[in-house]
Amino acid sequence: MGEIKTAGVVGAGTMGNGIAHVFARSGLRVVLCEVERRFLDRGLDTIRKNLAREAEKGKISASEADKALARIEGTLDRTWLAGSDFVIEAATERFDVKRAIFQELDRIVRPEVILASNTSSISITKLAAQTGRPDRVIGMHFFNPVPMMKLVEVIRGLQTSQETYETVATLAEKLDKTAVEVNDAPGFVSNRVLMPLLNEAMFAVMDGVATPAAVDEVFRLGMAHPMGPLTLADFIGLDVCLDIMRVLHEGLGDPKYRPCPLLIRMVDAGWLGRKSGRGFYTY
Ligand code: NAD
Repeated sequence: MGEIKTAGVVGAGTMGNGIAHVFARSGLRVVLCEVERRFLDRGLDTIRKNLAREAEKGKISASEADKALARIEGTLDRTWLAGSDFVIEAATERFDVKRAIFQELDRIVRPEVILASNTSSISITKLAAQTGRPDRVIGMHFFNPVPMMKLVEVIRGLQTSQETYETVATLAEKLDKTAVEVNDAPGFVSNRVLMPLLNEAMFAVMDGVATPAAVDEVFRLGMAHPMGPLTLADFIGLDVCLDIMRVLHEGLGDPKYRPCPLLIRMVDAGWLGRKSGRGFYTY
């Protein structure tokens, strides 16, 4: 598959800008691709600020921060991805959006190049089937905030080859991350285990077992979680939590994954957590 020198990143939102940041910091050239100028500018601006903060904290030198930023080329033209030796998609979490991107990447990018997705819940096997290279399609699931979080969940689709897996695990190490191998299934490991915990915490509140603050305190002080489950749900976004519960419920077909009615009501009300100013807490 050859050495990875240039990485393409599709989407410059929360995750895409973090992924571009860690690629560039590790010495790779990055082509960062967006659909609108304002989203691209916002992503590049976030990278600039976050690199500057790392330099202030002494994690990297000021000249390393400058060099990392200079390695990133932003564009609205996806044909610029043609020269990439690896591409990761971190676009909006909708199958129709990702299907179109994978079909296009398959046409644009050299056939030996690996196409990865940062999806939290969409089937890697299904994305792979949109391309003529299903053995070179894989999940590379980073965690927010990407520059800080050590884990990369590497998801093997049904047709992902061993060589593809090993290349991506090695790439994760180069980024100073730890790769954990999982197979393609709804929610992978991270969300399949985390989301039912958050959902159950919501049931506890709905049933009047305890207040959100009390539930969170039990987890912070009793289980040494840095953040209680309801604070975490507000941070992730209650709409995102609901979408993932629905993926688990539909994909696994087990009633134990049914979304908490309180969660559904809060999302209906537009209470989406931190980003909307109100969730289990007010911000
Ligand atoms: P986001 O909404 O912040 O960013 C998505 C970006 O993709 C937007 O800026 C949008 O303009 C862009 N985009 C949409 N279609 C595009 C296209 N065709 N070409 C280029 N850019 C396009 O979303 P996010 O939170 O960064 O999530 C991105 C992906 O990462 C999703 O699949 C999500 O499930 C996954 N993910 C998110 C988190 C998280 O905590 N936010 C964690 C792990 C994984």
